[in-house]
Amino acid sequence: MSGHRPVRRAARRGPADIGLPTLHRLHAMTTHHREQILRSRVLGCFVCLIRFDVNAIDTWWDPDDHGIGQTATCPYCGLDTVIGDAMGVELTDDLLSALEDYLFWRIES
Ligand SMILES: [Zn+2]
Repeated sequence: MSGHRPVRRAARRGPADIGLPTLHRLHAMTTHHREQILRSRVLGCFVCLIRFDVNAIDTWWDPDDHGIGQTATCPYCGLDTVIGDAMGVELTDDLLSALEDYLFWRIES
């Protein structure tokens, strides 16, 4: 993709500093992640690029044997593109937009 800004080795982390393995790992955690979602204090959708808390989620997909949905969906766009800080990341704007780039890069390639 074009338009990448040069990497700045400053204290502030930019999108280029979020490695592909991290993005790949997070993207793989967007389904069947009920436990991580419930343990997160902050959730974010990387299509809407906004943050919210677990109380905002009203639809869960992928019910288990007890009928309890295991995949949180975004209360704003309805997609399974929700991650939480219990996954070991800070939900910065940079992280959410890097994940958005990653998602569309995967769709296009
Ligand atoms: Zn959304």
